Amino acid sequence: MKQSQLFSKTSKTSEADATSVNHDFLVRAGFVDQLMAGVYSYLPLGWRVLHKISDIVREEMDAIAGQEIFLPALHPKENWVKTGRWESMDVLFKIKSQSDSEYSLGPTHEEVIVPLAKKHINSYRDLPKAWYQIQTKFRDELRAKAGLLRGREFLMKDLYSFHATREDLQAYYEKSKQAYTNVFTRCGLDAIITEASGGSFTKEFSHEFQVATENGEDLIFTCACGFSQNKEIAKVGEGDRCPRCGKEKIKAVKSIEVGNIFDLGTKFSKDFDLKFTDEDGTSKEVIIGCYGIGISRLMGAIVEVHNDEAGMIWPEEVAPYEYHLVSLGDNDAVYKQSEEVYEQLTKSGKEVLWDDRREASNGEKLGDADLIGIPTRLVISPKTGDKIEVKKRAEKEIKIVSIKEL
Ligand code: ATP
Ligand code: MG
Repeated sequence: MKQSQLFSKTSKTSEADATSVNHDFLVRAGFVDQLMAGVYSYLPLGWRVLHKISDIVREEMDAIAGQEIFLPALHPKENWVKTGRWESMDVLFKIKSQSDSEYSLGPTHEEVIVPLAKKHINSYRDLPKAWYQIQTKFRDELRAKAGLLRGREFLMKDLYSFHATREDLQAYYEKSKQAYTNVFTRCGLDAIITEASGGSFTKEFSHEFQVATENGEDLIFTCACGFSQNKEIAKVGEGDRCPRCGKEKIKAVKSIEVGNIFDLGTKFSKDFDLKFTDEDGTSKEVIIGCYGIGISRLMGAIVEVHNDEAGMIWPEEVAPYEYHLVSLGDNDAVYKQSEEVYEQLTKSGKEVLWDDRREASNGEKLGDADLIGIPTRLVISPKTGDKIEVKKRAEKEIKIVSIKEL
């Protein structure tokens, strides 16, 4: 991609309500645009990142037998009345049509997927099943802030698993923990598996995936041994002896919840009468698990963790491009050589953003490269001759290589 053709421009000034690092950098670098509080447009660079995160999530969900589907965002009121959440869920967006019918905009999809499952699950032979989607969710958050971390409209991956027995659900639940850990590791994050309450879904425990960072809204009590509880439910406090290892003291850490997995039991099966006939001929309620990842929040969390004062530092697997080729100096020879490098790299399947803007100053170009944060920067200038300067965004060291070596 030639930067001169790029849809978005960078900006030196922060938006007035940019109170978080991810909001500030993502908007200034032209990855996203804020339409109103908690609602964002994704521009080409940001959309590429979101695609990369989604593809990682797809690979890991497919690996645990997830099958991708795509459900509606517009839901009939009666399904939400049936589960009691039309009244009990305060973040539910409710809308009225011109003929006075009522609908909700999906904040989660149990009310859609469980009635759907009823049409496809009848016998123990139909179980287990795991269906997931990557969907726009709507939540009427009171305080939509911190950039992509808390949206009123946001992207979520939600997977629902259906089982004949508790043991089968438990085994799948454990597998999903590993799949989630894989997702976050590939996104360059270290997510701490944390015990939490079931939220609005169940009274049982759930597990959250929490990324430690100063700008997180959550507080978790953790120990190096792997013990971790969300403050909202925690039975321990800062400085207490860890109840698991009995050695270390519990630390309080600010964090971002990037994922959450739930054992829903038979709550929704009861609501929608989702039953199956077991091997012995008896009719039983299906046991359901639910597994969410905030895809857009994850993008914000990556920026919160990977940045410096000059801008973002994208981990390789989720970077919008692999290489940022920067041509310095308004010089014909530099542009000719840059074009060759750009074409060779692109032809060999590399993803390259080429800063080919002749009117921009060297300082502007290098500043933009730091702000955008592509992992490897390649500089061609009158000084480099027929060589190329290679620098990793996260490192200081500069290497000089030939096209061939590159
Ligand atoms: P929170 O406690 O932060 O409000 P939640 O526990 O209500 O989130 P879940 O219902 O568990 O959220 O949703 C699954 C995942 O979706 C969360 O782990 C989070 O990553 C993401 N998510 C939830 N709400 C939002 C939001 N308003 N904006 C962006 N992502 C969100
Ligand atoms: Mg949650």
